[in-house]
Amino acid sequence: MKKSANRDCYCALCRTPRALQYDSNLSARHYGQIALITVILTWALFPILEWKTLGSFFIMWAVFEFTRKSLYRRDVKCVTCGFDPTWYRKDVRIARKHVENFLRDNPDSPLLRARKSQSSSEISQ
Ligand SMILES: [Zn+2]
Repeated sequence: MKKSANRDCYCALCRTPRALQYDSNLSARHYGQIALITVILTWALFPILEWKTLGSFFIMWAVFEFTRKSLYRRDVKCVTCGFDPTWYRKDVRIARKHVENFLRDNPDSPLLRARKSQSSSEISQ
């Protein structure tokens, strides 16, 4: 796939190389899966709900979309510094708070370790 080549990136804050597994949008294959599930559900529930079962397409679509977005958001968040680009786009202050909380909760994060060793080497010089 050509698209996956673009998913190798760097964290905008700590410059750690990242490889994103998930895309934020559904692919044609996902729509195929949604359609298939809808066909199976319609076939199974037709005696009870008749054509109303076709509406399950929209429910399945919402479920797929929600799952995809959740996976993407979990994936896009940096594991080294806790930087979340999706929050950064929405509200910089909240993104900053997330990073501060992450660094407070993970005092031995590689990012902080690098800073500490850098500042201690500056002191010793
Ligand atoms: Zn980072």
